[in-house]
Amino acid sequence: MRPSSGKERNVNQPDAQRLDVAIVGAGPAALYAAAELVKLGDPPVYVNLFDRLPTLGGLVRAGVAPDHADRRLVIDTYQRQARSGGRLRFHGNVEIGRDITHAELLEHHDAVIYAVGASASQALNVPGKHLPGCHESSRFVAWYNGHPDAADLDVSFDCERAVVIGNGNVALDVARILLKSGSALASSDIAEHAREALAHSRIREVCVVGRRGPAQAAFTHPELRELGELDDVSVVVDPDDLSGARWDQGNFDATLKRATLEAYSKSGDETRARRLVLRFLQSPIEVLGRGRVEGIRLVRNQLVASEDGGLKAVASQQTEDLAAGLVVHAIGYRGKPLADLPFDDGRGIVPNRDGRVLVLDDDVMPGAYVVGWIKRGPRGVIGSNKACARQTVRALVEDAAAGRLAQPAKPASAIEALLRERQCKVVDFQGWRNIDRHERAHARDGQPRNKLVRLDDMLRVGASGP
Ligand code: NAP
Repeated sequence: MRPSSGKERNVNQPDAQRLDVAIVGAGPAALYAAAELVKLGDPPVYVNLFDRLPTLGGLVRAGVAPDHADRRLVIDTYQRQARSGGRLRFHGNVEIGRDITHAELLEHHDAVIYAVGASASQALNVPGKHLPGCHESSRFVAWYNGHPDAADLDVSFDCERAVVIGNGNVALDVARILLKSGSALASSDIAEHAREALAHSRIREVCVVGRRGPAQAAFTHPELRELGELDDVSVVVDPDDLSGARWDQGNFDATLKRATLEAYSKSGDETRARRLVLRFLQSPIEVLGRGRVEGIRLVRNQLVASEDGGLKAVASQQTEDLAAGLVVHAIGYRGKPLADLPFDDGRGIVPNRDGRVLVLDDDVMPGAYVVGWIKRGPRGVIGSNKACARQTVRALVEDAAAGRLAQPAKPASAIEALLRERQCKVVDFQGWRNIDRHERAHARDGQPRNKLVRLDDMLRVGASGP
């Protein structure tokens, strides 16, 4: 372990009466970590939570599908747990690296935990990917979920067919939203601009394209089954794609997926107004179009054994051009590099051991921790963050007890004066509550909330008082 600079703190000594921790990010991983920390009593831990948006929720607000709004409710529970005992302060609209540096955070806190998620899309490296009408899932999902960064995305549904690349749950989320009727979305918290655009959509067919076979698809059974519940939509699967599939016999989710895919392949119901076609063993090799997406060129793949013992897709010579006016690629996420922190570009995460940030020679970077997708990559469900947060918090507490954290030079409360000095328009917890109340109060019938999608509006409402 690299020796920390500055004065060492040993929590067993009388001067160490509290620990101050900064958490960067306000999604589920951040709130879990905060809830774990504020429970501690010896010494008591105080948390300053920072987010570059004025809102709480992170990916639960901007990533979970709007028709799964009930899954967002967990954030209320985490929020309550994290705030119990009054040891948590929220500083929204503060970006680390822009408004304040990592070094300044450490000057005011014993430790900093980064819980910033994995907000970039994996790159689809094919010609034509920059054509208007071709979107990466991170931006497209952010657009329909009302994230201010994506409010101005140029999205058009003026076409009969859309293609979604990828076979994970995000691909199925996108396909489902594209095929949901206006009335089916009425009770969702989809952004108003997206609801309006979808109400006038001409899309009649959505093709979801997986590069490997049905037995290798990353989506889970509940999400697959939900496709069959879409109003007036036929789910189409080619029986030939299933006949050669190599299923994992001992896997319960795989057994259920197989049965559901077989049922789809036999239903043959073509009387419905719209179709969702699940295609397998195909990869995009070019997005086609002059000035805008007009189609996609797909190549047929074969599965061959890979070095790691799995099966990988290898392209054949057989190609197919499919007309489409919209392409969304949902092929996984990756983290973005953070100012002043090391970054593992290959894995798209901050290198770490049990949540302790590692510098390149495998030394620990004192006082810096990670949690959630920026720690372990974009995998798992919201609840997976619980064990992940516990592990990081355990590491931090052990480091504090062992005197491995440098004592902050300034009190944590002084961060507020520093932000004011920099004229940062900080939105505190009351400000977020104002936004929350405003969104709920402006919901249409059946809608849980009507999201504000512009940063200026969030700041105005946040500052408006209860
Ligand atoms: P994911 O589960 O990792 O799926 C990514 C998909 O993209 C895989 O099918 C992968 O195929 C494919 N892919 C990767 N590179 C490709 C390429 N170059 N060309 C074509 N296909 C490519 O990622 P995700 O869908 O973004 O989901 C991220 C995490 O969030 C997952 O854990 C997911 O379960 C979770 N999530 C859960 C829900 C839910 O619970 N409802 C909703 C959304 C997301 P290979 O398998 O061949 O690599």
